[in-house]
Amino acid sequence: MKLFSASRWRAPTAAALALLMAMAPVRAQLPQLGDTSELSSGAERKIGERIARELYRDPDYTDDAVLVEYVQGIWQPLLAAARGRGELTPELDERFAWQVLLGKDRTVNAFALPGGWLGLHSGLIAVTVNRDELASVLAHELSHVTQRHISRMVTQQSQATPWMLAAMILGAMAASKNPQVGSAMIMGGQGLAAQQQLNFSRDMEREADRIGLGVMSAAGFEPQGFVTMFEKLQQASRLNDSGAFPYLRTHPMSTERAADMQSRQQLSTRGPVQPTLEHAMVSARARVISNPGVDSLRGAVNDAESGALAAQPRARQAGVLYGGALAAARLRDAATARQLFTRLETTVAGDAPAQRLARLLAAEIAQSQQDWPRVLQLVDTGSERRPELLLTTQAWTQTGRARDASQRLQTWVAGQPRDAAAWQLLASAYQAQGQALRGVRADAEARVAQLDYRAALDRFRAAQEMVRKGAGGNDYIEASIIDTRARQVESLLREQSLER
Ligand SMILES: [Zn+2]
Repeated sequence: MKLFSASRWRAPTAAALALLMAMAPVRAQLPQLGDTSELSSGAERKIGERIARELYRDPDYTDDAVLVEYVQGIWQPLLAAARGRGELTPELDERFAWQVLLGKDRTVNAFALPGGWLGLHSGLIAVTVNRDELASVLAHELSHVTQRHISRMVTQQSQATPWMLAAMILGAMAASKNPQVGSAMIMGGQGLAAQQQLNFSRDMEREADRIGLGVMSAAGFEPQGFVTMFEKLQQASRLNDSGAFPYLRTHPMSTERAADMQSRQQLSTRGPVQPTLEHAMVSARARVISNPGVDSLRGAVNDAESGALAAQPRARQAGVLYGGALAAARLRDAATARQLFTRLETTVAGDAPAQRLARLLAAEIAQSQQDWPRVLQLVDTGSERRPELLLTTQAWTQTGRARDASQRLQTWVAGQPRDAAAWQLLASAYQAQGQALRGVRADAEARVAQLDYRAALDRFRAAQEMVRKGAGGNDYIEASIIDTRARQVESLLREQSLER
């Protein structure tokens, strides 16, 4: 089921349909969640996992290393501030996922999901002019979760199990993409009702505004970002552009909210925040990734080649040149990409974060041409940052240094066990060294990281079979890890099926 993208969404998968149709008949015999006013955090986490699993499978889900790192650079300080202010309690902190899932989608949208998962469209990053604006949206959504708005909202559905609630939310998400297919999908009229119940109340929105503003300020972001982002959405709302701004459907720009924000704006004494070169480049990247069509890519190249660009502020120039070079590379026009890249290098000279992004872009272009020695020349191979790590270890595996790659990646996944891309690279690094057993386990862990326990268990079982046939190279430690992990994943899978 495509949940991220409106334009290319067609029909629910068979699995989703089966899941949705199963809802009604099962209802009567199921235990209730309880009569308490709130959904338990454990139940909410389960609902979230069920939905997140679909999002990971969505063709528009992206783990773009540069965008993800940039979003994390905003998200983690917001989480820390919410902890510091006591909005994020130790219990919720531990129970919930607190993960942002990015979708390649040109529409402007962000949404809080049960259990601490957040969905963010690349199109929203593309319309922000500085990190404070992006922080304001994330802080608002974060506050919906910490204030338990979701659990209060779904309490009305307390006859349903977590699994049914997940199906209902998935249905409503699909419905918001394509009203006709969607509402038919979630059982006619009941679907619409569910969707309405799945919107936050105005009080909840006000609370998320107020607490979000406090959290983002405590995290060191400019409150001004809240105001300018709000103005941007309000402007879109006046143009009635809600097709491109689905965020407006769930966050109507009421005059009340506007007045609230106006009064807060007076508290802020600082002027508008100038965009950094880095943000302009990240936002340009989001724009190119959101609009992968040939015409859009050509448009990005044309903008970069326009003579009028030289008169623009430096950040704008950096963004347009970065977007143009990336677009040219995607069009496989290497000559133009190189030429725009040279101009980009001159433009960002002296600005370290922007220079780093430019280098990463050059490395990415070399990677797409499988020019691994060039990748290693461009990337700071000693860096502990994720985009560098992923590029470096991949290039090492391809150039006879798989052992170095697996050592670096092993250390990394020990600290970041949910990094599916790193597990996948680790699998290739082991395979390149002829360590098939470890390769299969790393591949299994990549599936676990994206909550696909069924696929993970298949791989653990294949690994156990290899051990039985003596193909494990007497790697007893590895064999015992595989047995333990297979049991753990099996129990997770059993838990999942009991939710029905
Ligand atoms: Zn909201």
